[in-house]
Amino acid sequence: MVAGCYGRHMSKYWSDFVHQLQPYVPGEQPNIANLVKLNTNENPYGPSPRALTAMQAELSDQLRRYPDPQSSLLVEAAARYYGVEPARVFVGNGSDEVLAHVFHGLLSHDKPVLFPDISYSFYPVYCGLYRIAAKTIPLNKHFEIQLDDYPADNGGVIFPNPNAPTGVALPLSEIEALLERNTESVVVVDEAYVDFGAQSAVALTKRYPQLLVIQTLSKARSLAGLRVGLAIGHPSLIEGLVRIKDSFNSYPLDRLAIVGGAAAFDDVDHFERTRALVMASRERLTSELKQLGMDVLPSAANFVFARHPTLPGAQLAEALRERAVLVRHFKAERIHPYLRITVGLPEENEKLVQALGDVLKQDS
Ligand code: PMP
Repeated sequence: MVAGCYGRHMSKYWSDFVHQLQPYVPGEQPNIANLVKLNTNENPYGPSPRALTAMQAELSDQLRRYPDPQSSLLVEAAARYYGVEPARVFVGNGSDEVLAHVFHGLLSHDKPVLFPDISYSFYPVYCGLYRIAAKTIPLNKHFEIQLDDYPADNGGVIFPNPNAPTGVALPLSEIEALLERNTESVVVVDEAYVDFGAQSAVALTKRYPQLLVIQTLSKARSLAGLRVGLAIGHPSLIEGLVRIKDSFNSYPLDRLAIVGGAAAFDDVDHFERTRALVMASRERLTSELKQLGMDVLPSAANFVFARHPTLPGAQLAEALRERAVLVRHFKAERIHPYLRITVGLPEENEKLVQALGDVLKQDS
């Protein structure tokens, strides 16, 4: 909400701190019929039917009871899937909430936390919320994270792999090299999009106690509306997160999220089949965009980051919107020429390509 919606005089009740907050701006969720919605990296294939059945069964009089504060059923299903002990798994209300606790509990030190200059735009927001000093490290000219540039003297390191909003992935060997030299602070790898083609660092958490991996059910398991996120790492890191959680909200996951999330982890077939469909569509979309003359970064995510050599990103996003196709555009330095386009169903991707072709033809 914009400050001053109710008139300046009403915000007089805010603390000074609230006045200076710069909140995250999520992608739009408009309710427009026939809109091709490719702006928030949702998965077009929908969640596991087994997850839906489990949640339907949970919709009962039992909702009068509080959920399990430890979310044990979900923690155990996740631990089974990742091949780790349950003491190495933390769950929260979406990975955004997990990230908030990570910033608050593990990355808030005197020295600055380091993250890429172009990255998930919630990281600087958490730094503002928890008053954490931050230092951004530039991506190289190919929009790759350059871990060699991250000085060892830091209060923590965090980056997504693959990165957002670029989709570019780092090889595990480079992450391991960072862990070898960065032993005195926590290294957080945000793997929101990892299942679409990058290598997960989860196995490394057994060898590096300073490594924490963040996962979500919002993307490859198509449960963005359920709000389930996870952190996997050494039990002492998990214990730190539990201390924050139990000082904030003891029941971050409701009964539906616990049973639905657990069933989603158990349904490996659905997960494998749908993520393969998304990856195949991404490759096709990438080549069609290139045929239209767009520059497309190599993506290991469920979106592509593409720009036209001359036309401004904002103008393209607006022209697509007029044709009922919604993509995400960021105004920030270096990335404003780009559009972040979520991989949708084949027919949605086709509508995007046609609409873009139409826009480019009119401009030539
Ligand atoms: N990390 C990254 C890199 C993301 O892009 C997102 C999605 N906006 C999240 C975390 C948060 O996802 P969620 O809260 O839905 O788990």
